[in-house]
Amino acid sequence: MVKVKEIVARFEEFAPKWMAEPGDPIGLQLGDLNREVKKMMITLDVRPETVQEALENGIDFIFAHHPAMFVPVKKFDLSEPQNKMYAELIKNDITVYAAHTNLDNANGGMNDWLAEELNLVDCQALLPIREEEMYKLAVYVPKQQAAQLRQALADAGAGRLGQYSACSFSQTGTGRFSASDAAQPFIGQAGQVSAVEEEKVEVVCPKSLKNQVLAAMYANHPYEEVVFDLYQIEGLGQKYGMGRVGKVAFENPLTVLEYAKYCKEVLGLQGLRLISADLDKKVNTVAVLGGSGAKFYSNALLKGADIYVTGDVSYHVGHDILASGLSVIDPGHHFEKVCKERLTQKFSQWKQQEAWDIELYTSTLNTDPFRFV
Ligand SMILES: [Zn+2]
Repeated sequence: MVKVKEIVARFEEFAPKWMAEPGDPIGLQLGDLNREVKKMMITLDVRPETVQEALENGIDFIFAHHPAMFVPVKKFDLSEPQNKMYAELIKNDITVYAAHTNLDNANGGMNDWLAEELNLVDCQALLPIREEEMYKLAVYVPKQQAAQLRQALADAGAGRLGQYSACSFSQTGTGRFSASDAAQPFIGQAGQVSAVEEEKVEVVCPKSLKNQVLAAMYANHPYEEVVFDLYQIEGLGQKYGMGRVGKVAFENPLTVLEYAKYCKEVLGLQGLRLISADLDKKVNTVAVLGGSGAKFYSNALLKGADIYVTGDVSYHVGHDILASGLSVIDPGHHFEKVCKERLTQKFSQWKQQEAWDIELYTSTLNTDPFRFV
């Protein structure tokens, strides 16, 4: 039987938690990571009707894009529909996990899926590229114990670069110290200056593994006082960025109005909102950002986009966009529903690779709160 934490660990290799925006309440929402999974549901939102769907289908693990708990619970009054939903989940032993902005920002994640739906090619990030925080650890160890320490650091995840692991660099030299009477030196005697042939082992590690790498260093170093340098470095971290901008892969470019109609069709919408001062303008470059991205419209302008596709545009921001000359398509926040099929494909792949004995179920509910009449 596979546990929630094993499924989640595989997913987080693809969309690590550190890629999430600060303050985003991602990860385990409710339940227990150690629980065994028989049937897993993939959904955009966790709503009372989604939980009903889960119960009807014998689901024990819900994997959602939007966090179920955006607002902390202050009192557990069950007359509140949201609280009643949490109670149903707990009562029925259903674990809920959310991957939100880490999935948006992941390479090959939400924004790449949306760009593909919109027929974009040669995509790059819409917002400035960011980089995973990386550290360099240099630790001094007697030559005899260096191999064990290097192995322990590698086992803790230090020295991974792309397809390479256990990368390190060593130099040898002489370390000197004088121990007090209260010390219990591994080498040498109290009151005397000792000189030891030491190796300086250098490894890199991401911020997310820093504490476990340091713990491995302390656990596998013979000295009472371990001497090391730890500092942040640039250029080696995994790169990621929010949103996408790319070329529209049509031989004959569509106009703004034609492209808007195209979006309505491919996204399966009853309607969408269009802001544009020039409906006949030819569309060559399109920017997209899942969720509520109106505040980033100037990034779309900077990247030369003819149209920016994003949800939740408000009235006054709509005025600013219109005046800027950019065209914006607001298909509604719910256009992120494309993630349900894409996530199901990913989990099916991982299920095969990891031989998970689970059943996958994709939510069939439309959780869009808005209707067109
Ligand atoms: Zn969203």
